[in-house]
Amino acid sequence: MKSAALPDNERERLAALRTLTVLDSSPEQGFDDLTLLAATICDTPVALVSLVDEHRQWFKSHHGIELDQTDRDVSFCAHAILESDRVLEVPDATLDSRFADNPLVTGAQQFRFYAGAPLVTDEGYALGTLCVLDHRPRRLEPRQRAALEALARQAAAQLKLRSMHRALQDALESARSYQNELEEYQTRLRHLNMQLHAQAVTDPLTGLYNRLALTQQLNQAVARCHRSGEYLSLLLIDADHFKSYNDQFGHQVGDVILRQLATVIRSVVRESDIAARYGGEEFVVILPGTDGEGALALAERVRMKVQSSHCGESDLTVSIGVVSRRGAHPRCTAELLIQDADAALYRAKDSGRNRVIAAVTISA
Ligand code: GH3
Ligand code: MG
Ligand code: MG
Repeated sequence: MKSAALPDNERERLAALRTLTVLDSSPEQGFDDLTLLAATICDTPVALVSLVDEHRQWFKSHHGIELDQTDRDVSFCAHAILESDRVLEVPDATLDSRFADNPLVTGAQQFRFYAGAPLVTDEGYALGTLCVLDHRPRRLEPRQRAALEALARQAAAQLKLRSMHRALQDALESARSYQNELEEYQTRLRHLNMQLHAQAVTDPLTGLYNRLALTQQLNQAVARCHRSGEYLSLLLIDADHFKSYNDQFGHQVGDVILRQLATVIRSVVRESDIAARYGGEEFVVILPGTDGEGALALAERVRMKVQSSHCGESDLTVSIGVVSRRGAHPRCTAELLIQDADAALYRAKDSGRNRVIAAVTISA
């Protein structure tokens, strides 16, 4: 027996075969159809789509024989691929020195006849064959040989299509995974932005809105009040004699008291009200849609709850200035609301602290 020589371009040929990622894949109808057609047209019991690997030939499709692969040493197809532009036909293997003692000829299979048309890539690499085998000596008729060549071209085209399809699927898969990564990244970014925004508008000591957010919220509330014609009220709350608590207990205890004061304010106001730290020991509550009477009542509740809460185990009290304006009242601006509430607060301080005082013309 003479094993086939290696093709001149063996290294590149094997590389081309590997890139197809077809070796050891599952059977596919497209290739099984081609072996069925080849066996039918050539009138042989066996037809194969054989791919010649480094040490074996592996069958992508095997019609009429239960065999997945053989050693390359005994492969007829390893001979057939040496001439990629023609069909190798062995009319009687027992009379051919290359195959006479081949186990496929002498063994259980008893093959006599072989015809294999190379499967050639666009680059010219013969990867294997579409071949037919018979147990008796014979020859192909010219039309059968032509048909075998045509079917081999179809098998080669099928291999190419299959590989392109897989490449496309891989590309789609990685595009999908890039998209997922991108979406995760965007979600993280959105989350981070939200955190950043929350930090930018929050007073770190009390967790209430800070001065910047207060300005924005007040401007928006004023604009809404002008549009709707509804009431807008505002409380300016100032801790009484706060400096003395700092002096007496220290600045850190002062911070604890301020935090508890903020908690009390938050617990009294409604969801729609906006509580902010105006600065130092001063707080503002914006009350959209609340008239003067309602605002005074709420301020009184804040004052009483602060007193009964004993913030930081102190006897802290607050004074509160209240203002309320309706719709497009000329003093219903962010600046004047604060100014009028501050004037009322000043009077509350002046008249003894721990009290609520309304602006001179509380509503109009
Ligand atoms: P009044 O009743 O007239 O408001 O007296 P007051 O002592 O509260 O007023 P004053 O404006 O003289 O003092 C405010 C004090 O608030 C002084 C300042 O040290 C303190 N303060 C301002 N911000 C903070 C803070 O973040 N933490 C602490 N612990 N103290 C603060
Ligand atoms: Mg103050
Ligand atoms: Mg004060």
